[in-house]
Amino acid sequence: MRGGRFGSALSVGLLLATALTAGSATAGADEALDRAPDGTTGSSGRSVEQPVAVGYGGAVASDTLESTEAGIEVLRRGGKAADAAVAVAATLGVTDPFVAGLGGGGFIVYYDARTRKVSTIDGRETTPAAGGETMFIDPATGEPYPFSTAVTSGLSVGVPGMLATWERALQRWGRFDLDEMLQPAIRVADRGFPLDAAVRGQIASNADRLSQFTSSAELFLPGGEVPEVGTLMRNPDLADTYRQIARHGTDAFYEGSVGRDMVDAVQEPPLAPDATIDPPAGLMTMDDVEAYRAIDRQPTHMQYRGYDVYGMAPPSSGGITVGEALNILERFDMSDMDRAQALHHYLEASRLAFADRNRYIGDADYVDVPQRQLLSDRFATQRACQIDPEAAGTSPVAPGNPFGPGTCQAAGKATPGGLEGTHTNHFVVSDRWGNVVSYTNTIEQLGGSGIVVPGRGFLLNNELTDFNFAPTQGDAPDPNLPEPGKRPRSSMSPTIVLHHGKPFFAVGSPGGTTIITTVLQIIVNRLDFGMSLPDAIAAPRATQRNTARTLAESTFINAPTGAALRALGHEFDTSTGIGIAAGLEFRRDGAVIAAGEPVRHGGTSAAVVRPAR
Ligand code: GLU
Repeated sequence: MRGGRFGSALSVGLLLATALTAGSATAGADEALDRAPDGTTGSSGRSVEQPVAVGYGGAVASDTLESTEAGIEVLRRGGKAADAAVAVAATLGVTDPFVAGLGGGGFIVYYDARTRKVSTIDGRETTPAAGGETMFIDPATGEPYPFSTAVTSGLSVGVPGMLATWERALQRWGRFDLDEMLQPAIRVADRGFPLDAAVRGQIASNADRLSQFTSSAELFLPGGEVPEVGTLMRNPDLADTYRQIARHGTDAFYEGSVGRDMVDAVQEPPLAPDATIDPPAGLMTMDDVEAYRAIDRQPTHMQYRGYDVYGMAPPSSGGITVGEALNILERFDMSDMDRAQALHHYLEASRLAFADRNRYIGDADYVDVPQRQLLSDRFATQRACQIDPEAAGTSPVAPGNPFGPGTCQAAGKATPGGLEGTHTNHFVVSDRWGNVVSYTNTIEQLGGSGIVVPGRGFLLNNELTDFNFAPTQGDAPDPNLPEPGKRPRSSMSPTIVLHHGKPFFAVGSPGGTTIITTVLQIIVNRLDFGMSLPDAIAAPRATQRNTARTLAESTFINAPTGAALRALGHEFDTSTGIGIAAGLEFRRDGAVIAAGEPVRHGGTSAAVVRPAR
């Protein structure tokens, strides 16, 4: 056993109590460890105030108070960023159960301060061996299942990669063992956490789905009702599951009884006696679960205005698509344009990059993804000249030809993309040595498949709905159709930006395909518009993904630039909120700024080990 610093639950509890009562006038760790009366979290417990913490010794920004606390505790005790990341992710499985946890998967982008290298772990879910191109075709009709049918079913459940990712991250970069890093989550699951407005809203909006399954209703709808804000949410089943994994290692999941219970739930979901759905059964077997591996991958890399941008390679489309759009934007002097013109270019670059994403990106272990070409200056030149400075493009625009010349041209047919969900979580961690974790993880849709594994306390993903159910690319091959073992294309975009070889900032977000534009927009806000990282995160968002209309927050649409963009032909649909970003920035004096969302998701949480004075 390595490490061994997590002695007893008692000492940790005492330390936490100290942190909680220490109080602080600055937006530092202690202040961030505060909860507002309405259950939302923020730098001083007020949801309208942005969670921003500045200081030293390590930092965390994540969705919930308890998960940030768990990470800070590990850092305080000498843990590395990877150790803390596992503690944060496991705790999110308790406190953010509709977007995180053992039943899902995700991607870690990691900066190693010793080697000064960025690397990644792919913990994406896999398709069962019995799956394949027609798995989402309803045999009764010969047509694809309606998306809403597939979403709440065993059929959409991919083999979860979450736990294998945690194990791999600790092996590669951690000091502590998995069993120790699960302890904070076990404590929160045992003791319970007060339900906040955000998670309550997630239960309420999923209540119909949850009530279809006995196990899900038992956990989230006690007495058949949506619990009130402030209710103490305990999850003893999950605490026991984590304990079993802590005792027996990941084999308890991938080769043992946790895995078997999961396979049973996928093949025969625990339908309630009065269930109104008849979901297609899942294909996952114990052989699929045993075969699961988290994969070390090279990150995507591109340079943008002198900064090195590292992201997630396929099966995520995040790194390539963010990188391609930045490459297109680099052909223009954005800082010299008026803001509406610059935002017009942002929207247009994203429109073009999405056409290429949909046409060319899938799991690169199964399809040839022209990654180098898509990220080349030559291709960016070809695509940049599609942007008309005086008019919005008409979507769907056609994909470019990454093998073509670096001159103005379009190629291929314009086709729409597929349907994808919009919930997940992103968090960031740094440690005293300067290591950085940028980790986006998910169970796909809010609430995943809606199926809680009976007796185990966690929801199963519905990640396989990220595949296209039927070909979307006309005469061209669709890179994102299911195949046995294949990982569905993701949009998750955990990102780390270096300057002169050192971390400058790390950022990411949930939001399905809007993840890509949120990360892109934050990078543009920071590097082109010169906003601080907290401002870059808080700024109003718009997302153009090769659709006729652009989805945007009302604050974006109603700003003066919104009117100028409309005059260029952009048409907007209103979103109540795009993404829930978390980021870290490394100041020249060695301090770290951890920043979350002031308003979206009711505010999130950020803290540092030692607040700056
Ligand atoms: N399943 C989505 C993806 O991998 C993430 C889910 C979300 O953020 O909604 O891109």
